[in-house]
Amino acid sequence: MKIHEYQAKQLFRAAGIPVPEHRIATSAADAAAAYDELGSSLSVVKAQIHAGGRGKAGGVKLVRSTDEAREAAESILGKALVTHQTGPEGQVVKTVLVEAGSEIAHEYYAGLTVDRSTGCPVLMVSREGGVDIETVAEETPEKILTEQVDPVAGLRKYQARRLAYAAGFPGPCIKPACDVLTKLARLFIDTDASLAEVNPLIHTNDGAVIALDGKMTFDANALGRHPDIVELRDEDEEDARELDAAEAGLAYIALDGNIGCMVNGAGLAMGTMDTIKLAGGSPANFLDVGGGATAEQVTKAFKIILSDPKVEAILVNIFGGIMKCDVIAEGIIAAATDVKINVPLVVRLEGTNVERGRELLESSGIDLITANDLADAASKAVEAAKVTHA
Ligand code: GDP
Ligand code: MG
Repeated sequence: MKIHEYQAKQLFRAAGIPVPEHRIATSAADAAAAYDELGSSLSVVKAQIHAGGRGKAGGVKLVRSTDEAREAAESILGKALVTHQTGPEGQVVKTVLVEAGSEIAHEYYAGLTVDRSTGCPVLMVSREGGVDIETVAEETPEKILTEQVDPVAGLRKYQARRLAYAAGFPGPCIKPACDVLTKLARLFIDTDASLAEVNPLIHTNDGAVIALDGKMTFDANALGRHPDIVELRDEDEEDARELDAAEAGLAYIALDGNIGCMVNGAGLAMGTMDTIKLAGGSPANFLDVGGGATAEQVTKAFKIILSDPKVEAILVNIFGGIMKCDVIAEGIIAAATDVKINVPLVVRLEGTNVERGRELLESSGIDLITANDLADAASKAVEAAKVTHA
């Protein structure tokens, strides 16, 4: 689960990490009032969306008067901001953060994620922070310094010092930098975060170290322990199809491709996506309808796949174990009567009640392409999608 920058900064502040004074505004008038209240001649108006890269996309504006604050908010609010993380349709901005501006002496990067090979949090710090950190990671990865963080003890003092010195913080900033890194690691651990990122983390000429940006993502499986974090959820920022699916108890993840997938079992779903790739195609989603799905859930799943305009073919891959093939067939038939299936449908059924499932589909009169095995199904779906596309 993701949260907004201003919410991350509220968590930072509560954890003792310095952040600039700020206000939240949902209208240009509120933004102007916020500027006056802050009383800082240099201020920053920042679009609040669940995506980074706002600076380069015009979603971060430095302002020096009440009028400029109003104009900046007006130009950002209500419009879709397209950044390299939003996709081409962008994300509509509903809230701006108005923040007392900082005099930046240098921009660093600090971020934590879970290192899957060690199963531990890893803290990454770089002297080359700011809006081009992706290029640094790609071209000069040696400029990103890392320390494994003990998930119980947190970041050790020597580790914090090693990172702060290696990143080149000037003498007077070493202690505050160590303090920020230690507290960020503690916050990451205590909130069961999967990402905590400060880019830029800055130092100012008077020796302060401040988090100028903040991004946090939390492990959805741990949210049961964090009711306060669940409250920060902004469903407007989340994929509508994913929300819909979650409500229906389906594990659905939206992807960029054009082949909609309906599969039972997470492992088989991943195998199906791999096989589509192998056949030269690209999956539009991950979808595990689960072992015990009802015909209603299958219908819902089908409708969710069909509502994605990118989908140019659908691949149903069911290996009936606990899930019965006839239940899947019933779900597909019910969906087809409700919504028109306007793309080719490739079906591979195997396992429990497969004969009954095939009979149902055949007698339903639904136009479908049957496949003998997964490889056959994947290549047929890829070919069918090409036809739709052309
Ligand atoms: P992002 O592009 O979505 O990551 O948004 P950021 O919050 O990181 O802002 C982008 C850039 O705007 C930063 O790297 C800074 O260079 C600049 N910026 C943000 N806040 C301030 C500020 O208070 N003062 C100055 N001078 N620049 C700022
Ligand atoms: Mg940033």
